[in-house]
Amino acid sequence: MTESSPQAHNLDPWLDAYAARAETLAVSEVRALFSVVSRPEVVSLAGGMPYVAALPKETLAKAYADTMAKRGLLAIQYGGGQGDLTLRDQIRELMALEGIHSSVEDLVVTTGSQHGLDMLAGLFLDKGDVVLAEGPSYVGAIGIFRHYEAHIEHVHTDHDGMSPEALQESIDRMKADGRTIKFLYLVPNFANPSGVTLSAERRPKILEICKREHILIIEDNPYGLLYFDKPSPAAVRSMDEDGVVYLGSFSKILAPGFRVGYVLAPPAIRDKMVLAQESALLCPSSFTQMMISEFLANADWKGQIDTFRGVYRERRDAALNAMHEYLPNLETTRPDGGFYLWITLPEGIDSKAMLPLAVKELVAYTPGTAFFGDGSGQRYLRVCYSFPTPDRINLGIKRLANVINLQTELLDTFQQKGK
Ligand code: PMP
Repeated sequence: MTESSPQAHNLDPWLDAYAARAETLAVSEVRALFSVVSRPEVVSLAGGMPYVAALPKETLAKAYADTMAKRGLLAIQYGGGQGDLTLRDQIRELMALEGIHSSVEDLVVTTGSQHGLDMLAGLFLDKGDVVLAEGPSYVGAIGIFRHYEAHIEHVHTDHDGMSPEALQESIDRMKADGRTIKFLYLVPNFANPSGVTLSAERRPKILEICKREHILIIEDNPYGLLYFDKPSPAAVRSMDEDGVVYLGSFSKILAPGFRVGYVLAPPAIRDKMVLAQESALLCPSSFTQMMISEFLANADWKGQIDTFRGVYRERRDAALNAMHEYLPNLETTRPDGGFYLWITLPEGIDSKAMLPLAVKELVAYTPGTAFFGDGSGQRYLRVCYSFPTPDRINLGIKRLANVINLQTELLDTFQQKGK
């Protein structure tokens, strides 16, 4: 059924009324399969959900009650478009852990970093503009950039993150084609979906190229504090104030349901973001901002981040051990933090075509194609180990191995017959 078919019109009588950009909001086939994945017998290595059960419920309940007791009606009133001042001051302390020093004036609190990304895309992207991004890149950002009808140009990325040489080549190619590059979108630490970290050596090189070429960097860093052994390299924003817009979030170090993130931007961009936020939302939620502020002021938030690190380290180990046991010949990234493994399948196996078979075997993952704006990535898949217990991760990867091995055997048989 196509969007213009009579059946489609019967299902939605308003089909002709939508703006052209609404077409970019089509549900992916993969998303459709995920409804099956919520069945308890399926081990889902698909969605990137934080393990919120590792949070102390009583402490959160206390922060909730104290917010009402201390901030009272202010907590349930409209707030400023830039976000709560006390929280912005606390965010400065958080960012200092990654080498960033800033003033409260340059921070804007957002409704999750997803909303920060959407506002930035709305401010910068016209139809056909180029966004440079890692290959693979975050599916949620790709969705936004597509919605603003941008062209996403993936830059070669390896185990040390984006290659500066490849970045320069992509820029030269885009310029030769007469295209307008608006920004470089980077997830520098334990990236979603690859799990890789942009090395300390490459960071200044990428920055230097972007400065020379006058390309803004959007540094999206929700996972940086979730390192397993040693802290992540200093943020790109810590090396430059004017050319980098930095996004952070409480979704992974606290909980995503609060929907609180933040953006640190040069003053002119910050002013536009406040206006964009006021226009779209009036203000971010006063209550959740104040509750997080209360939690940061009175709970052991650094200890909580440590707890998360321990949980995710154990799960990363479970995932890598299971890969070693059941799929020893497959290439996988070895993340030093965060939630994800990026797995390369044997030549000829398409991860999207394989997904229904995997779900039948009671395991789910996200196919690599979700993470490329140009539909490539068939040979890859993302495993997210943040949510299932280590035993379930082991079982999930064992099931995944059954599916992949069967596919490989079938492929071999066909190839033998073809000879
Ligand atoms: N950026 C990246 C790289 C992410 O992985 C996510 C969440 N999966 C987000 C942004 C959005 O996070 P939130 O809106 O919950 O802050």
